[in-house]
This record gives sequence, structure tokens and C-alpha cells, in this order.
Amino acid sequence: MFKEITAKSILHYHERQFATNWDANIYCGCGHNCRYCFAQYSHKYLETTDFFNNIFVKSNAPGLLYREFDKKKWDKSPVNVCGISDCYQPVETEYEIMPKVIKSFIAKRNPLVIGTKSTLILRDIDLIKKLNNIAEVSILISVSTLNEAKRKLIEPDAAPTIERLKMLKKFSDIGCKTSVLFMPIIPFISDNQENLDKIFQITKEFNLGSINAWPLHLHGNTKKVFYEFLSTHFARLLPEYIKLYKKGSVSKEYSINLQKRVSALRDKYQLHSTYKPTKPRINKEIQLSLFD
Ligand code: SF4
Repeated sequence: MFKEITAKSILHYHERQFATNWDANIYCGCGHNCRYCFAQYSHKYLETTDFFNNIFVKSNAPGLLYREFDKKKWDKSPVNVCGISDCYQPVETEYEIMPKVIKSFIAKRNPLVIGTKSTLILRDIDLIKKLNNIAEVSILISVSTLNEAKRKLIEPDAAPTIERLKMLKKFSDIGCKTSVLFMPIIPFISDNQENLDKIFQITKEFNLGSINAWPLHLHGNTKKVFYEFLSTHFARLLPEYIKLYKKGSVSKEYSINLQKRVSALRDKYQLHSTYKPTKPRINKEIQLSLFD
């Protein structure tokens, strides 16, 4: 079910600095269906709890962005438009809101952050390039596994991992700031050395910028949904997970061990983990033809 809603506001501040302090969510709910999705909690204040199938569409988002960016106190902070749901999820093919959103960023020369698991973003590469000429655009992808059989089970409606990496290379090639979020690393499913090494290797070969890696967290309803998934597809792992996830975070021992492996790979491939969008860079010389 898709439902258009008229949002009253669009920019939301949060203390968490990653990827920025400001989010603007274009959709609530996400059709990528990742079984580990951390954002499912965000539906609890809505009229439904089905985060994956009941998607709310803020079709007035572009107009709200123009209004917010026009406010005197707005300081052109970078805004992440994929905070709690992917803005290039399947429903975007129907509503095509993102081109209008990007045009609002171009008009107001505001830095933009997009995190996605979709290659649909390539549809808008010309607009993104235009914005990146006058205000920084950061593109982030998150990945878990290069094993397609596992990926189809875990993230059934997202793009294949290698396609995401190739897509990110195209944005790196046109000068956008890019970053790989290797998250979540899923215990006993995507944490094997071959998978870890290959994702670091491709990040280096494709010149994709920084890489951050985090283990799976299972807070709130996410744990229930993920355990149901495990019961169906990896039932033998359930007892191990019950030992590892006494709380929402993975055990300290697992986490420390994983960080050591990640650090070793960072050294091996000379990759850093620092990602931060920079403040606005304005090039007044560039004349824009916005809506051609
Ligand atoms: S792409 Fe992100 S928001 Fe969408 S289902 Fe997957 S984890 Fe959740």
C-alpha cells in the first residue's frame, strides 16, 4: 500500500552526526525489505506497523525544502534525504519525487547526502552532477554480502551488492564524495574473511573513498523480524544468536574481534573510516540552467 501524505515539516535535527545532523525523509517505510532493517521502529507512531509494505509518500517534500532553505536562519548544512527510509526504493520509480528534491538543492545551493541500496539513483546522475558543481554531494551505499544467494534472502528488493559498488564508482568518477557503509556485518552469514576482504578490495580498486564497518544490531522489533528470518532460512544459527544477542547489541567479545579484523583490512588496503560531509562550497561563477 502506498499512501500520499501532506507533511507539515521536512527537516529534522538529531544529535547523531553520522552522516549529518539533518535528515529529510521523503518516504516513511521502505520496500527494499531488508530483514535486519533498523528503521522499522519509525512506523510505530503511524496507523500501521508494516514498515515494508505500507509506504507513506511525502509528495510535498520538494516544496517544503524550498521553504525551509529560504529561512534566514538556515545555514546550508548538508541534509541527508535517506535517514530512515531509502529515497530510491521501488516506489520512487512511480512517484519520481527525487528529481524535484535535487532541483530544490540546486536552486538553494545546499549540500546533499544520499544513502541508498538502489541503482535507480543513476537516473538522476546529471542533476546530481549539476548540484555537485556548486554544493557538495555525498553518496553512500550500505552493503552486507557479495554472495548473491544470501543477498537475495537478506535484502530481497535491493540491488545486487556488486551493482551498488559499480554505481558508487560512477559517482566517484564524476567527483562526488563517496563512502561505503559495510553494515551490517551479519554474524555467521556475512562475516567470513573472504567476504570482508573482497568488499575492502573493491572499495580500494574502485576508489570509493572511506569505508565504515559495523556488526548487526538487533534492537526492538528488528530482533523479532530477524529471528523469524533466521528460523526460516538459517535455523541452525538461532542458538548462536541467542548467545550473541543477550541485548540489542552483539556481544562485546564478538565486537572487539570484528574490529580487529576490520582494522587489519583497513591497513592492508590503506583505507580510512573518516566520513564527514564538508560545509557548503559555493561557486558563484557557475551559471545554472536549472530546469532544462
Ligand atoms: S534500504 Fe534501509 S530503510 Fe530500506 S529496508 Fe533496507 S535497511 Fe531498511
